[in-house]
Amino acid sequence: MSKERLFELRELLTRYNYEYHVLNKPTIPDSEYDQLFRELEDLEALYPEEDDPSSPTKKVGFEILDSFNKVKHEKPMLSLGDVFNYDELRNWAKKIEEVFPDAKYSVEYKIDGLAMSLIYEDGYFKQAVTRGDGVEGEDVTSNVRTIKSIPLKIPYKQRYDIRGEVYMPKKAFERINEIRRSEGEEEFANPRNAAAGSIRQLDSKVAASRGLDGFWYHIPNDINASNHYDSLMYAKSLGFKINENTILLDNIDDVIKRIEETAQIRDSLPYEIDGMVIKVNDYSQQEALGFTSRIPKWAIAYKFPAEEAKTYVEDIFITVGRTGKCTPNAKFKPVKVAGTTISFATLHNEDYIKDKDIRIHDQIIVRKAGDIIPEVVRSIKEDRDGSQIPFVFPNVCPTCGHPLVRYEDEAAHFCINTDCKDRLVFGIAHFASRDAMNIDGLGEKRVEIFYSKGILNSIEDIYTIDEKKDAILDLDKFGLKSYENLIEAIENSKKNSLERLLFGLGIRQVGEKAAKILAANFKNMDNIINATLEDLSDIKDIGPITAKGIVDFFKNNIDIINRLKDYGLNMDYIDNNIAIDNPFRGKNVVLTGTLIDYSRKEATSLLENLGANVASSVSKNTDYVIYGSEAGSKLSKANELNIKTLNEDEFKAMLG
Ligand code: NAD
Repeated sequence: MSKERLFELRELLTRYNYEYHVLNKPTIPDSEYDQLFRELEDLEALYPEEDDPSSPTKKVGFEILDSFNKVKHEKPMLSLGDVFNYDELRNWAKKIEEVFPDAKYSVEYKIDGLAMSLIYEDGYFKQAVTRGDGVEGEDVTSNVRTIKSIPLKIPYKQRYDIRGEVYMPKKAFERINEIRRSEGEEEFANPRNAAAGSIRQLDSKVAASRGLDGFWYHIPNDINASNHYDSLMYAKSLGFKINENTILLDNIDDVIKRIEETAQIRDSLPYEIDGMVIKVNDYSQQEALGFTSRIPKWAIAYKFPAEEAKTYVEDIFITVGRTGKCTPNAKFKPVKVAGTTISFATLHNEDYIKDKDIRIHDQIIVRKAGDIIPEVVRSIKEDRDGSQIPFVFPNVCPTCGHPLVRYEDEAAHFCINTDCKDRLVFGIAHFASRDAMNIDGLGEKRVEIFYSKGILNSIEDIYTIDEKKDAILDLDKFGLKSYENLIEAIENSKKNSLERLLFGLGIRQVGEKAAKILAANFKNMDNIINATLEDLSDIKDIGPITAKGIVDFFKNNIDIINRLKDYGLNMDYIDNNIAIDNPFRGKNVVLTGTLIDYSRKEATSLLENLGANVASSVSKNTDYVIYGSEAGSKLSKANELNIKTLNEDEFKAMLG
């Protein structure tokens, strides 16, 4: 920990503040800013002699620019102190409760927008001012006036200063970014920056078109109430939009419970929240606790864990899938996002890399989309130092050297060499996978070994694998028992219903769902082989591209099908004998969270076999929502819509 670092951090954070608060174009994720901010606070505590009132730790926001008139706030508009875990939150509350054991807390969503003060005089909306540097802000009245939910007239004659957040709902954010994309303009990084950018437009028509809204959460100098919560309720009676999820709690355990619950439904909210704000409710207690130059001591922000992080692209490489599709991937320096460490993300295809301008050795922002799949949000062009290398998509397959093909209307490149090792290995493993022919013991690793030893070269070889018994038993760690189990799994796979085989064959465009539709409609393999493009396209949910994929496949692979027939594979659709009187038959069911005894796939297939329709989202037509641990927004939505929910035990009981 050095003094140089202290000065370096002050400089860095000042730059980041400028980019964030003035340009509305942050170049690092908030989580990283928060980390650096903490580091600076620690260093300043270590070197008190270096105290500087212009340090970012002492200031709110950033000095404002000249485009708007400056307005001095009657009372400063401050920032908030923040905590990043429950221990820190408990410590904060402990200090409060040492002085005020009876403290009650108003617990609110931390709306991710732009702080704003609205001034009313004689019952009329007079002025809207941004927080600015906390002391003075920008007069953005004409822009804020365009926000429909803000009352222009209130039944209150005295001067009234109400503060809150102007935000951009998620839907509006998506719409605006879509427009910007189509017009070749740079997209907003997040709804907060979009809201701030829109409010600071010089043309209020533009601001009006941005779909902004506001929540109001603070009335300084309120003479109409003795505590924060009553003050909000009074503001509500005057016509202000108060977030309905604001609640009053009297102990920190309940506050934490509330935070946990909110984290679960956060994604389903129509606006972004980046945390929760906890405020001591009583005004006299607030007054006694006071302020620092930057933050009130009677309130704290609990910030949700970061879901975006910054990292560095070490390489971009291609993987070849079972269909021959060549997918570029970014390998980046491992980084923690939303609790897990990630180091790879798909870059989808050549156009995606070009559109996002992602280069080897770029600094990038990554996030976990839907909390699961890592995704590169963008590259940080400002950080380029000349060492970045644009990625050139190869002309030939990195595995077999065969020239790649890019079909018309397809963004992907394909290796069309059917003997390409990756295609074969992944193709065989896919054929044997659980959702296809379900042959236990033929995972990717095993198939790769079998391939390298000449035991398996194609899916047909699976059914003559007993001819290679000696070679298999010669393999390291492969005992007789494993061999027998494998043979048994292969034998069993011959009895599968047609859709599993169709899916396993890896026909382009035919996923699990299309395979099921084909099998159910055509009943057997020969009918599908003989179907024309028109016959296939006539089926609901089979489009012309899928139909063409099917016709092309059978044109080239009829020999394989015939050999599989000879090996005794079932080629018919086996209609699951659906019990007429089961409670799920004909019902719309949604699964959410993690069940203990069933994987998502198993539960889905169980329900589908019972004649249920398993959907991915909850609507008023849903009959049941079956939930496991860590159920999130779908469960809350079901409760909101009064839809019958079943935990795993209730689900099992209904299954009998
Ligand atoms: P903040 O966003 O951490 O918290 C304070 C703000 O929360 C208030 O000013 C108010 O606008 C808002 N808020 C939302 N709901 C509220 C509620 N119910 N009650 C009270 N306030 C509520 O602090 P800040 O000073 O606005 O900004 C600092 C933060 O901005 C940093 O912690 C960082 O996350 C981010 N930042 C990022 C960069 C970057 O480069 N990425 C740079 C500067 C700041």
